[in-house]
Amino acid sequence: MEESRDRYTAQGAAADDVDVVVVGAGLAGLYMLYRLRRLGFRARAFETGSDVGGTWYWNRYPGARCDVESMEYSYSFSDELQQEWRWTERYAGQAEILRYVNHVADRFDLRRDIQFDTRVVSAHFDDAGTRWLITTEHGERVSARFCIMAVGCLSTAQVPAIPGLETFQGCWYHTGRWPHEAVDFAGQCVGVIGTGSSGIQSIPVIARQAAHLHVFQRTPNYAFPAQNAPLDPDDERRIKACYAELRQAERESRTGYMIDRGEQSALEVTPNEREREYARRWERGGFGYTSAYRDLLTDQSANDTAAAYVRARIRDIVLDPEVAELLSPNDHPIGTKRLPLDTGYYETYNRANVTLVDIRASPIDAITPTGLRTRDAEYTLDSIVFATGFDAMTGPLFGIDIRGGGGCALREKWAAGPRTYLGIASAGFPNLFLITGPGSPSVLSNMIVSIEQHVDWTTDCLSYLRDHGVERIEPELSAEESWVEHVNEIAHTTLYPRANSWYMGANIPGKPRIFMPYVGGVGTYRQTCANVAADGYRGFILRP
Ligand code: NAP
Repeated sequence: MEESRDRYTAQGAAADDVDVVVVGAGLAGLYMLYRLRRLGFRARAFETGSDVGGTWYWNRYPGARCDVESMEYSYSFSDELQQEWRWTERYAGQAEILRYVNHVADRFDLRRDIQFDTRVVSAHFDDAGTRWLITTEHGERVSARFCIMAVGCLSTAQVPAIPGLETFQGCWYHTGRWPHEAVDFAGQCVGVIGTGSSGIQSIPVIARQAAHLHVFQRTPNYAFPAQNAPLDPDDERRIKACYAELRQAERESRTGYMIDRGEQSALEVTPNEREREYARRWERGGFGYTSAYRDLLTDQSANDTAAAYVRARIRDIVLDPEVAELLSPNDHPIGTKRLPLDTGYYETYNRANVTLVDIRASPIDAITPTGLRTRDAEYTLDSIVFATGFDAMTGPLFGIDIRGGGGCALREKWAAGPRTYLGIASAGFPNLFLITGPGSPSVLSNMIVSIEQHVDWTTDCLSYLRDHGVERIEPELSAEESWVEHVNEIAHTTLYPRANSWYMGANIPGKPRIFMPYVGGVGTYRQTCANVAADGYRGFILRP
């Protein structure tokens, strides 16, 4: 690759030069390294964790499991890889996915380009030299023509600022930063705060271990059965025989995974028909529920029918009517927060050792040395589990001091909400690429499909720049403005903005309320990106 070899010197020491720095060695960072190496770029990746895996490295909480089926939540870039790897369950658990990611890292010899136990603290663009200077927590400096943020969307764990946590004499954990050593809750009184996907997956498992479990719930959430089971070998053979076609269909689909999508309105069928269809999908399990009818995520009345069905199931399962009522969501349309897929969640509240505490009615005042105090009661706890989520999408990027041309900070530019062109790049930040960034389908899709699409697009772009002698690329401001407007407009044709979700930034106090991912669909988005590239990177400024 043609290089402008401006060696960036700091404190008298020459910085290391590479073509590309990749931040993160999760699913995105690993595939990025694979592609860069094949294209002949010199790349170095930095990873905060001690090993590969990203989300699957950190989220080791009891019950952690993927909500996309394992045959689809896996890389498609190597047919040998997808044919040889054998998943054991319909939905893979965390440990199995981590084994898979390690297998990929070894099989393609990716570790030698990764520096582990290393947090990147800043990335500054040096206008004169057209290079990024990346600094790590250990004070190392690396200069690179391109900087790629593969930092994940749900990697900045949020522990709420509840007074007194530092005085707690027991142990506390966040689901997204779970210890590597096994945590044994046997004989303990445990409190779980939070009933999102992480809480809903961990609560049934912790309930089976603990002497007593208190679940502190602020907002009830719809949970839908995963119906997880061992993977049927016949299904596996059938899928492997036509994997290429399946993967292509995923790439062209709305969500990046295969679902049986109803074309009718929920309101044009009879209540009996609807009931049968919802029951069929409940038995089948998985995300397909909100695709039963074409308008479930766009029409409130249609959505109400699907929500009512799940509330009726909660009443069927949970024996105590008051507990069932407390568990029944009524403040947001079903599916407008990511639908947690559960295994025995509602049944867990029938156990004698589980108590549901309504902290909407009686908020938590403080953590105490011996437990937790709400407005109305005191709870003695040995351990507290925060299943309280993440500063999603922007949090991981703001955790790094990213400065573009003229020293402009990304945090400042995005103070009122993220601004990207295609969710891949941001004006004023030349040669910086965001993998599955805000403004792309990202967290609304099968992440692996979106990761592969972004990595392929970005690496094709880098090859194009190299072949055409282009030093610098960044979005035109007008292209970015139109994209941000489009992302926002299309989100408001759906019910998504009605929920206080992390998609909206609503889970973080003070965070701007903007719907961050692109809801227009994986296939449509992919075509848009391909068209932009085919038009010589329309909407980007390319400088020789
Ligand atoms: P989440 O969906 O943001 O849920 C956080 C929970 O913590 C909510 O119930 C929230 O209540 C509660 N909470 C937050 N701050 C609180 C406070 N100060 N006091 C009391 N309660 C508080 O987070 P998550 O469960 O970790 O899931 C995040 C995302 O990660 C998921 O939506 C999903 O995309 C992904 N994930 C996926 C899987 C999977 O693949 N199966 C599993 C886990 C996570 P409010 O609703 O009232 O704010």
